[in-house]
Amino acid sequence: FHGWGNVPMGPPDPIFGISEAFKKDDFPKKINLGVGAYRDDTGKPYILPSVQTAEVELLKQDLDKEYLPMTGDAGFRTEATRMAYGDVYDSIRDRLVSAQSVSGTGALLLSSRFLSKYYPSKDIYVSNPTWGNHKNVFSNAGLNIKEYRYYNPVTKGLDIEAPNDSIVLLHACAHNPTGVDPTHAQWNDILRVVREKGHFVLLDMAYQGFASGDFARDTYATQLFASNNIPMFLCQSFAKNMGLYGERVGCFSALTASPEEAARFESQLKILVRASYSNPPVHGARIANFILKNKNLRSQWANEVKGMAGRIISMRQALRTILENDLNSKHSWKHITDQIGMFCYTGLNPEQVATLSKDWHIYLTKNGRISIAGINSSNVRYLAEAIHSVTS
Ligand code: PLP
Repeated sequence: FHGWGNVPMGPPDPIFGISEAFKKDDFPKKINLGVGAYRDDTGKPYILPSVQTAEVELLKQDLDKEYLPMTGDAGFRTEATRMAYGDVYDSIRDRLVSAQSVSGTGALLLSSRFLSKYYPSKDIYVSNPTWGNHKNVFSNAGLNIKEYRYYNPVTKGLDIEAPNDSIVLLHACAHNPTGVDPTHAQWNDILRVVREKGHFVLLDMAYQGFASGDFARDTYATQLFASNNIPMFLCQSFAKNMGLYGERVGCFSALTASPEEAARFESQLKILVRASYSNPPVHGARIANFILKNKNLRSQWANEVKGMAGRIISMRQALRTILENDLNSKHSWKHITDQIGMFCYTGLNPEQVATLSKDWHIYLTKNGRISIAGINSSNVRYLAEAIHSVTS
């Protein structure tokens, strides 16, 4: 062996790369709008008080650190899937297979491996644009990435052009990066197309609670597909809504046709997990389960999520108002307040984005997406001035 001379230098990750550049910058007014992580109004990471309470209580229980089963903490899986499928849960529970996953990305990874092994078609349709890592995860598993048009600035239309029996990846709520979700009527249209064409639905739900500030209201898509018995996978993450980013808490679930099919599916899922990472980490799932099971803590958590969603909405409003009213921008910034969730798809082009980082020390992805969670009352005016300057 003569070393790794054959290994080419890879590009930095578009999002983690931004955080690295941001860290190196010592300009005092620098702003990181790249990563989708919630910050409080002083720009600090936010540990949810409900999570802190759960951790203190768990510590008192003196729990061991033994291995979890391959599919993870059963109590957590039940609570997580019940929360995602809402009222439909009881009618599907005997056909639902789930596995605690290494956050949302881990759930996508299990999906990608399972599909590549057992799904007849190797094409997966993702929205254009979508979260960049979707493409990495699914192409790593040998699937071909195809795109359907998502964001049409003229009609706000959403069209999925895919051959019959395709795998279609949809964002369950708070679409990343556009912040534009289908209306209920549009979801019903999507369901019709999915049914007619026999598509397989992969729902990515990384932001439950962040779209509307209400967990139940954000389950429209999951409930719609599940209640219509559409063959589907669901990938949940508790990174954003519980602020458990680094704890890696997520859940993969598959809606199968019968308990018998569920049993076969689960047996293969376990084999897949065992060969990949054996079993998932214990700590974060315990926290999530503790909160989900405890009535008082759960309602406290719901309020904390409402608080995060509310702060994001007020920052959208502030940014738009300063641009339009104070700075008299000649552009409309209505989309900042129309879009929902953690992100805003600003419409800034790659040159404007480059100027923002070079001249203003403001960091965001090349596609013009900003994480609203990185904005606060102290930096919103500076950001508005910067955006106004590059768009004038
Ligand atoms: N899916 C989407 C659309 C996301 O934006 C993210 C995180 O940014 C994820 C999945 C997964 O994140 P995690 O693996 O941290 O749960």
